[in-house]
Amino acid sequence: MKKLFTPGPLNTSLSVKQAMLTDVGSRDLEFIEAVQFIRYELLDLAQVDKSEYTTVIIQGSGTFGIESVIGSVVGEGQKLLVMTNGAYGDRMVKMASVNDINVVELPFQENETLQADRLEILLHQDPSITHVACVHSETTTGLFNPIEEIGQVCKRFGKVFIVDAMSSFGGVQLKVKENCIHFLVSSSNKCIEGTPGFSFAICDLKQLQLAKDQAKSLSLDLYAQWKGLETNGQFRFTPPTLTIMAFKQALIELKEEGGIVAREARYKSNRAILKKELHQLGLIEYLPESIQGHIITSYLYPEHPNFDFDRFYQKLNERNLVIYPGKLSHCNAFRIGNIGQLFEQDMMDLVNGVREVLSEEGILIAQSVV
Ligand SMILES: *Cc1c(COP(=O)(O)O)cnc(C)c1O
Repeated sequence: MKKLFTPGPLNTSLSVKQAMLTDVGSRDLEFIEAVQFIRYELLDLAQVDKSEYTTVIIQGSGTFGIESVIGSVVGEGQKLLVMTNGAYGDRMVKMASVNDINVVELPFQENETLQADRLEILLHQDPSITHVACVHSETTTGLFNPIEEIGQVCKRFGKVFIVDAMSSFGGVQLKVKENCIHFLVSSSNKCIEGTPGFSFAICDLKQLQLAKDQAKSLSLDLYAQWKGLETNGQFRFTPPTLTIMAFKQALIELKEEGGIVAREARYKSNRAILKKELHQLGLIEYLPESIQGHIITSYLYPEHPNFDFDRFYQKLNERNLVIYPGKLSHCNAFRIGNIGQLFEQDMMDLVNGVREVLSEEGILIAQSVV
């Protein structure tokens, strides 16, 4: 079996895959109950109350969920500010402009975190900004942005706060209400460890209700999707039935593992193995440790004439070890994720594979480490 050291889709458990073996109708009671279970369970994970928040499930990958939120909640005459330090932040800016939304960008470097004080200055300068969006775990590099601080600024200024927590929700303890987040988006195939097929938005009910009849798209209308789910428990358009059944099982298994606290601990220990062992092989991380998250790590290409990423990737792949190309705009790096059904032995298998391939290629030079 291939082991996926990527930001998703990820390795899932056998029982999650088995949950997809029985066909289920989209109007079956069993399915409708699974949808309800998922919607409530996600509110529990977010530690929010159903009197204030609701979960909307959106068919498609994570990007569809973000586009549904951005294209539905920023209304006529309003203005969205996107704070960016990577490809996923940039994608939100692009999405806003494609959707004809009034958008401004507050850009940062890829190797620095977003700064709440810069947001504060900008909000003073431009009171016409109504919504603020950013990525929590910027999968481009692997850093975590300080959404607590950004949320507090949004609260003080009375702005609507949208967070792409795609690659962190479920694997990082995260308080939604305390951080003043009105819309938090994640998807089925990241830290909850389900299969790909849908995204979900945890929405502040008051803000969601303001989005009535203002979406830029029919299929991605967040408010209409919510209304559909609320009135008869059904989706407006064909849902990914089997992915939903798998996700229900994944949520049960997250609980059995010990919830987000235990999953975070497993991911952190996976990442600690990577950090220690790959350092010993002479590989250099792109980010300083102080801002590096525990989801995915970017490694600089070794400075060696023999290093060829495609060959490196291919040789690891032949060993059933799948890593991920880089996405940095100004330097060459590859990425190694440590989320999904990955455990200590899997991390060591990867480390051993990397050691073998670097040796074969005549690159292994680590001499400095005791
Ligand atoms: C995975 C991811 C997305 C969504 O990507 P899709 O390919 O649409 O699932 C969005 N933002 C971040 C930060 C991600 O890691």
